[in-house]
Amino acid sequence: MNRIRLLSEQVANQIAAGEVVERPASVVKELVENSLDAGAQRLTVEIQAGGRSLIRVTDDGQGMSRDDALLCLERHATSKIRLAEDLSAIATMGFRGEALPSIASVSRFVLTTRERDGDTAEGTQIIINGGKILEVKAAGGATGTSVEVRSLFFNLPARRKFLRSEETEFAHIQHYLTLAALAYPQVAFSLVKDGRLIWQLAAVSSNPDPASQLAALLERIRAVEGGDQKLLPVDFSVELAEPALIEDADQPSSILHPPSSSSTFRVWGFMGAPGVSRSTREDQHLFVNRRPVENRGLNFALLEGYHTALMKGRFPVCCLFLEIDPAAVDVNIHPAKREVKFHQESQVRRLTAQAIRETLLRFHAGAARKEILASAVPQHPPPEPVEPSPSLPFTHTPAAPALSTPTARAASQTIASWPARTPVELIPPLHPPATEPSHTQPATRNTSPTPSPATSAAAVPLLKVPLRLVGVIGRLYVVLESDRGLVLLDQHAAHERILFEQMLNRLEQQGAAFSQKLLLPETVELSVRDAHFLREQLPMLTRLGVGLSEFGERTFLLDALPPFVKVSDARRFVLELVDELKAAGQEVNSLRLGEHTIAKTVCRHAVKANDPLTGPELENLVEDLRHCAMPYTCPHGRPTLIEMNYRELEKKFGRSQ
Ligand code: ADP
Ligand code: MG
Repeated sequence: MNRIRLLSEQVANQIAAGEVVERPASVVKELVENSLDAGAQRLTVEIQAGGRSLIRVTDDGQGMSRDDALLCLERHATSKIRLAEDLSAIATMGFRGEALPSIASVSRFVLTTRERDGDTAEGTQIIINGGKILEVKAAGGATGTSVEVRSLFFNLPARRKFLRSEETEFAHIQHYLTLAALAYPQVAFSLVKDGRLIWQLAAVSSNPDPASQLAALLERIRAVEGGDQKLLPVDFSVELAEPALIEDADQPSSILHPPSSSSTFRVWGFMGAPGVSRSTREDQHLFVNRRPVENRGLNFALLEGYHTALMKGRFPVCCLFLEIDPAAVDVNIHPAKREVKFHQESQVRRLTAQAIRETLLRFHAGAARKEILASAVPQHPPPEPVEPSPSLPFTHTPAAPALSTPTARAASQTIASWPARTPVELIPPLHPPATEPSHTQPATRNTSPTPSPATSAAAVPLLKVPLRLVGVIGRLYVVLESDRGLVLLDQHAAHERILFEQMLNRLEQQGAAFSQKLLLPETVELSVRDAHFLREQLPMLTRLGVGLSEFGERTFLLDALPPFVKVSDARRFVLELVDELKAAGQEVNSLRLGEHTIAKTVCRHAVKANDPLTGPELENLVEDLRHCAMPYTCPHGRPTLIEMNYRELEKKFGRSQ
């Protein structure tokens, strides 16, 4: 008996819908992508009951002719690719030709469209019910396309049952729209929820100039996400001289698409300054060729790039765009096109991490792109120029790249120093705070959107402005004053950062960090697995000053430590090293990261700097911190300095709204 039969078109579409249309947000995603692919400048999304009863996406894109409108509802009908090889270099959001027929097969669907450059002024309307065309008629209306999806999954009760609450479904929709809005600042977006306009994002004009793109993106970020987190502009690009290697030699695309001899890899956008992070990846937005993506490799690249600027268990806040030769990415690996695969995954990862790291270093070195931040917030008065003032103990350090070599350091030592004669406790306040901030804050500020204090603070990094010591509180926090307001320094965090960088610098220059023999070596017994793991790390540990040697099957002898380290429980210390290294090893297998991990762990055991430090010692601490490459966080990502500017103080004291 023959059992196999071909499925009807309608059933096939419903099966495809199972993959593509998971929930109302997937419908919104497909429709919005189509509108963006059609060159829309303005997009309106209307939602009722979390998308269960209505999803309508209206655009002013190029529209479709009557024939195209009918054809686009057929399975595998697309205007975006023609041949199999086109799949290897996709430049549009869509390409599968599956979305519209799938959505139409599981809803009551109305497509209304009018061609922008068509011969007739007439548009077309097609009404479909659960995949069956009910009516095709002429329609008036503006050029562009509107797709209305009602009663989603009405003919798939099982699917409908799985929909979550209206609020949850709406949250998914809004999340996707946030991503689309971030990727297309030049497109205006409106979102209407149950008849109420809840989002209206004006189009942000920009030109192809990178600075203009960044400014437009920042404006859009502030518009969709609000908030005033301190963000750093990222703009990193490299020419990849190596042709985009196609690793899978069986792929015909490698023959059909001879890789171009060079291509540009670019990472641009914004990322949180040190200290800005979240406990989830929620504010981590990554795009590859403007497509929002999820990619584990990129997640790790971010963590690797931030490394010591991020606290454990925290995630970066960012909105980053990767631009890469489309032939070097595969977007056809996920039915909803959420994931991508890079042909040269490790290279992309490495370069992305480098982009992050260089941005952080630039920020720490004071060369942050203040022009962009300033131009993106035009209404804001520029921060007061900070002149080196003779009355200030610290003079302005020129915005030179971070000095890390001892010779460079010695040379710079003359630039800034804390006059030893200044009695620490007795310096009168430099500026009466009540009058000083008032002239930096013009009266117009209430009428113009004021940017965050953090944004303006990012313009001139804290350690580039003169700082004056006021005192120490709680034997830990050093109170300093700058022209901008109050600064608190965590003595221990600062100390850790300094030691961390000194250790790594010495390692780099001399091949080994300082080490001191212990008077009483200690033995440490580990489990078989940990012992095996540790054995492999011994040479690296030794280079970093941690003298560990094998002392039996599972026993090790700890007989040396960096001079500033004190360990009360040797076993716990060694286990901590093992755990940290294991955690780092899973994520990135680079030797440098291993070294950094060791240094970071070791510095946690730096003798706590809670003893009262004298003026000159504090002086040195701040000075040493100024010479760090990444002074604003300790190696574990905690801040070393906290600034509260006069505006924030004024706010707290109720002197301003
Ligand atoms: P895909 O986007 O993968 O090509 P879809 O099923 O989403 O497949 O759409 C099929 C085709 O319909 C598209 O290739 C496009 O030509 C056309 N189309 C869909 N939506 C729009 C729209 N909003 N404006 C203009 N053309 C559209
Ligand atoms: Mg599509």
